[in-house]
Amino acid sequence: MNFQNTREFAQELDQKDVLNKYQSEFIFPKVNDKKVIYFTGNSLGLQPKRTKAYVDEIMNDWANLAVEGHFYAEKPWWDYQERFAEPLSKIVGALPSEVTVMNTLTVNLHLLMVSFYQPKGKRFKIICEEKAFPSDQYLFQSQVNFHGYKPEEAIVEIKRREGEHNIRTEDVLAKIKEVGQELALVLIGGVNYYTGQVFDMKTITAAGQAVGAKVGWDLAHAAGNIKLELHDWNVDFAAWCSYKYMNSGPGNASGCFVHERHHHSNLPRFAGWWGHNKERRFKMEPNFDPVQGADGWQVSNLPVLSLAPYLASVEMFAEIGMDTLIEKRNLITAYLEFILHKIDKEVNSTFEIITPQNQEERASQLSVFLHGEGRALFDYLMKNGVIVDWREPNVIRLAPVPLYCSFEDMYEFGQILKRGILGK
Ligand SMILES: *Cc1c(COP(=O)(O)O)cnc(C)c1O
Repeated sequence: MNFQNTREFAQELDQKDVLNKYQSEFIFPKVNDKKVIYFTGNSLGLQPKRTKAYVDEIMNDWANLAVEGHFYAEKPWWDYQERFAEPLSKIVGALPSEVTVMNTLTVNLHLLMVSFYQPKGKRFKIICEEKAFPSDQYLFQSQVNFHGYKPEEAIVEIKRREGEHNIRTEDVLAKIKEVGQELALVLIGGVNYYTGQVFDMKTITAAGQAVGAKVGWDLAHAAGNIKLELHDWNVDFAAWCSYKYMNSGPGNASGCFVHERHHHSNLPRFAGWWGHNKERRFKMEPNFDPVQGADGWQVSNLPVLSLAPYLASVEMFAEIGMDTLIEKRNLITAYLEFILHKIDKEVNSTFEIITPQNQEERASQLSVFLHGEGRALFDYLMKNGVIVDWREPNVIRLAPVPLYCSFEDMYEFGQILKRGILGK
């Protein structure tokens, strides 16, 4: 498509956009009495208007039914998480029995590593990406220490090549081969939080498993953002948070995937009563008999007040479908890229987009090095209603989330950016 950097052109794209109506389903903060241009849905998604009713429902059931709400609420609390199985499994490409929702992301990765990181003898190494999200780095270090190994020996990072911003698949595969028999686990962020790079999960999963390792994915930046086929890719396990692209509210519940072939295995796990055989859960039996499915990794009784906003969101995603979402995502991201290049030329600047150019290797995020610009530009953007994320020294991350960002937002952003640079 031949893009144009005009308001009319952007408005035309909005008119043709089948997701345009969803903007009015979200609550936007306001700056100078105008709704903001929100680029940080990769950090905390906006609140959908429908969410409040889901939370109110729990509050009302609690008020009216108290303990009886566990079984007699319209959406009973005791197996509330089962309402996620159908819609969520479609979003991540899984069987309904392979997904569950519980706890929070890092906690779930720890719980899943209990099952899937079983170092033994010389097979004790973990492959991850260089500069993984800090929580993941602490996760790896503490797990390795817990098992009595040394992080500097057990954790193998895949490096970027000199002068490159993204990690090459061929380098991941070479490292997997090199570590070979010593490799216990591959655990990488499916979409890199800093650059927005999307990894080739299918190929990497197969390569890790070919040398006898388990392969899991941290899908914090992937769930609700990219097409996932976790079952078909034969991924061993995965977990994600729900508050980034999935709009379920600050620090909210996490989703997990455990592949079907592990459901009947004797994998070790840290158990709790909510993972116990559903029919017999309240018989208060002494021996743990896990549910045969991802639900078997549940620990505590469900935090329904935090699951309710997630359910609202999952139902919205299911009603739209990932394919429709991704179609707009590709177009609006490409339009934003075009605008950035245009403004770059107009102001004679040197923006450097470090996110891959290839649509297959990126999703809803462009990370931009604003060479020569500083914190003042960020402050200007924020004061003028553009909510972006700033990383030192001068990288902004822009997520034109297809659910609630418009093409006109992209145009408008370009104009504000230009004024911010020229007016300094
Ligand atoms: C956002 C994010 C997290 C956050 O973990 P929480 O346990 O939800 O705080 C972890 N890993 C990655 C890769 C992330 O992007």
